[in-house]
Amino acid sequence: MYSKIYLIRCLALVLPLLLIAPLSYAQTYSEKNPYIYSVEEVEKGGFMLLVNKAYRLPEGYVPKGLQNANNRVRCEKENMFLNETALDYLEQMFIAAKKEGIDLIFFDGWREEALQRKYYNNKIAERGHSLATSLVAPPRGSEHELGLAADILSTLHRMRDGHFAATTTGKWLIANCWKYGFIIRYPQNKIEITRFLFEPWHYRFVGVEEATKITASGLCLEEYLAKMR
Ligand SMILES: [Zn+2]
Repeated sequence: MYSKIYLIRCLALVLPLLLIAPLSYAQTYSEKNPYIYSVEEVEKGGFMLLVNKAYRLPEGYVPKGLQNANNRVRCEKENMFLNETALDYLEQMFIAAKKEGIDLIFFDGWREEALQRKYYNNKIAERGHSLATSLVAPPRGSEHELGLAADILSTLHRMRDGHFAATTTGKWLIANCWKYGFIIRYPQNKIEITRFLFEPWHYRFVGVEEATKITASGLCLEEYLAKMR
């Protein structure tokens, strides 16, 4: 009798722990920081700084030199910001596309850490942890927080999905982005390395020289930087 009661008490203690285990794992994982940059390293890293799930920005980091993009290119919403040099090149790319009859839309630029955290937590709640982490970067692990990433779509395709790659605009961006210093950051054939699904709308500014080399090499940013070391 005593042992039965003891067993029930044990189960009562253990079961809630088992139920919350996946949740606490998700929380631990999202806060795990194998490598965090200091502000100095970030400032020195320039346009080639690697930011991903492992290489995180310092807490509360806000990049210098952000510019409002609203009067420069067609924007999806008010108060969209991007690094000033990246914005100069983005504007050139939008003008060149327009000349070829392609209407680009700047869909998303700089994000502050709190917003990235919100996106990340919402996606985990929506899609579950393992899928969410291949769709949205954790807080301090997104290039959008660096001010060097631009999500770009078109007036004819306004969804951030894989189908964008097959549209005229998607093809134009993939073929021409390097001329304006941008690279496709999460290519289709590099999912195992970037740990992100293919994002034909997400472009990372690295400067024209590096974008030309990276595109010609066929490597993703992680591989290219590893080779440069
Ligand atoms: Zn993006």
